[in-house]
Amino acid sequence: MKEVYLDYSATTPVKKEVLDAMLPFFINSYGNPSSLYKKGREAKAAISDARKKIADLIGASEREIIFTSSGTEADNWAVKGAAYGNSHKGNHIITTKIEHHALLHTCEFLADNGFEITYLDVDQYGMINLEDLKNAIKENTILVSIMLVNNEIGTIQPIKEIGKITRNHGILFHTDAVQALGNIEINVDDMNIDLLSISSHKIYGPKGIGALYINKKIKIPNFIHGGAQEYQKRAGTENVPGIVGFGKAAELAKENLAEHIEKLTHLRNYFVDTILEKIEEVTLNGHPQKRHPGNINMTFSYVEGETMLLYLDVQGISASSGSACSSSSFQASHVLKAIGIPLENALSSVRFTIGDFTTKEDLDYVIDTIVTIVNKYRKISPFYKEKKG
Ligand SMILES: *Cc1c(COP(=O)(O)O)cnc(C)c1O
Repeated sequence: MKEVYLDYSATTPVKKEVLDAMLPFFINSYGNPSSLYKKGREAKAAISDARKKIADLIGASEREIIFTSSGTEADNWAVKGAAYGNSHKGNHIITTKIEHHALLHTCEFLADNGFEITYLDVDQYGMINLEDLKNAIKENTILVSIMLVNNEIGTIQPIKEIGKITRNHGILFHTDAVQALGNIEINVDDMNIDLLSISSHKIYGPKGIGALYINKKIKIPNFIHGGAQEYQKRAGTENVPGIVGFGKAAELAKENLAEHIEKLTHLRNYFVDTILEKIEEVTLNGHPQKRHPGNINMTFSYVEGETMLLYLDVQGISASSGSACSSSSFQASHVLKAIGIPLENALSSVRFTIGDFTTKEDLDYVIDTIVTIVNKYRKISPFYKEKKG
């Protein structure tokens, strides 16, 4: 059976070049990077090389990149670190309603521990309003955390302008750039960013390795305590193969960025245009232009999203839905809710995310399958019949 993977925002396969770069660090240069003999020095040099490649991808310097176990850890460290490190100045944090759970659940934890959180609204496209941000800033605001690219609907926030506002107020600015990395141009200086989270497995690197960019002008307390690794900022023996893989993936992402964006944008537009042409009552969620090049989030009215996913899976197609099926009840995604999509439409939404290995043939197969599913389920939908008379 044909298999088509359209869930690149959930995770990506490791590229062959990335795996090849990693292998020697399992079986030859496996020394502890803190050891002074050759095997240790080799591992240490490889970490430094990877750190440089990741720094290059976001316009940072090597010392500003600190490896973590994941994007989630980077988000936790940035927000809890900024919060506790500045609690003498204030306890107010501003974020948005559409952040990843790594951010939202961290904020919930902080709210339970004496911090005050403001969740900014977004418009129908998932964009924050800069005036809302300015109005939300108070005497006691210590951190603004707003994601660069949304993982569900792909919307890209005006990060540079947000950074200008936070700089003017002397407030720390963190951004979750996990979905942005390798998919849009990032420059931390140009964008006025203080803290930025990234993850390897979203850019064709291995899972279990991420990084936090910490602007050299700022300080946050350590999150993981122990040895002197990572410039004494994050303890624990380094995940050397993971770091090397992340570095190689970052190098490839930088080399291919323009081509990658062009290819994905082209395929995405083809997919969206064809679906809109072939099926009625379908909408594209998120911003029409300012979006992740590979993100397609669509509402197929009168077709239940989870059912669509099951049927797609039977046909060898992997995608994800706009709802979180929590055991007994269907919950609309917090992001779709925030952009004002009615519950029944949110439950009829599916996210397809394309990547470097996606082909036009793959998309044609998926489009044909979707057309079949939608026709089949609308035929038996009493609501659709009623609407059509
Ligand atoms: C995947 C993702 C994360 C979490 O990264 P992990 O490395 O999987 O922990 C955080 N934020 C966003 C926007 C993501 O897409």
